[in-house]
Amino acid sequence: LASRAHKPEDTVIEVGGASIGGNGFIVMAGPCSVESEQQIEQCAEWTARHGASVLRGGCFKPRTSPYAFQGLGLPGLDLMKAAGSRHGLPIITEVMAPEQVDAVAQQADILQIGARNMQNFSLLKAVGQCHRPVMLKRGLMNSVDELLQAAEYILAGGNQQVMLCERGIRTFETATRNTLDLSAVPVLRALTHLPIIVDPSHAAGRRDLVEPLSLAAKAVGAHGIIVEFHPEPEKALSDGPQALYFEQFANMMRKLHA
Ligand code: PEP
Ligand code: MN
Repeated sequence: LASRAHKPEDTVIEVGGASIGGNGFIVMAGPCSVESEQQIEQCAEWTARHGASVLRGGCFKPRTSPYAFQGLGLPGLDLMKAAGSRHGLPIITEVMAPEQVDAVAQQADILQIGARNMQNFSLLKAVGQCHRPVMLKRGLMNSVDELLQAAEYILAGGNQQVMLCERGIRTFETATRNTLDLSAVPVLRALTHLPIIVDPSHAAGRRDLVEPLSLAAKAVGAHGIIVEFHPEPEKALSDGPQALYFEQFANMMRKLHA
């Protein structure tokens, strides 16, 4: 179902006024985690003001350490939904468990499957039953073929609104948090009709690399990017080192448009 052989024309996903796929290029932006009403409101305002079309924010966080901030859960999702609505933005957030899917789908416009859950097959089956678009992130240690087969689980369940996300993979290289596999973008565009999104933030792990990698993602044919920013990156409860300052995000948006 994911292959070009099955469906030659690009899938375009319409969500809250944004068209994802085809010839367009969209930006999803926001904090790593929803932290407070004020923080997500500031982020929503900045996202809308600079022409990004989807607000991102995590409420259920897949953290390496159980002692790290785990997210605000459903109350955080309510805050993000309200902020998105005030600024006319659809929202994307991660869902981590099959039993959360219904509750998250009630509020979120796009469901994110995180890299660590790319092969959580019960979760894939659960979002396959759901009526919301899904963004499936490539696992840290997964091949392009495994990503496509994971997408197949969602499509086979009946949900045709699937987009894929390259977010960097683990290699021997330590200069970046992960290695952004930009080759995966044209490779995937040839193999599948599904929209391809690039996440330079989680790939690089460093804010200084987010702009060049975003420009490269657009050049290599991605349908969009998902990036993290924060009003005060030094105080971020997760992923501060890769969060853009507000002005950096604004500058990057100008360059992407140019
Ligand atoms: C995220 O987008 O907040 C995230 C946790 O990303 P990944 O699953 O790619 O690590
Ligand atoms: Mn993050």
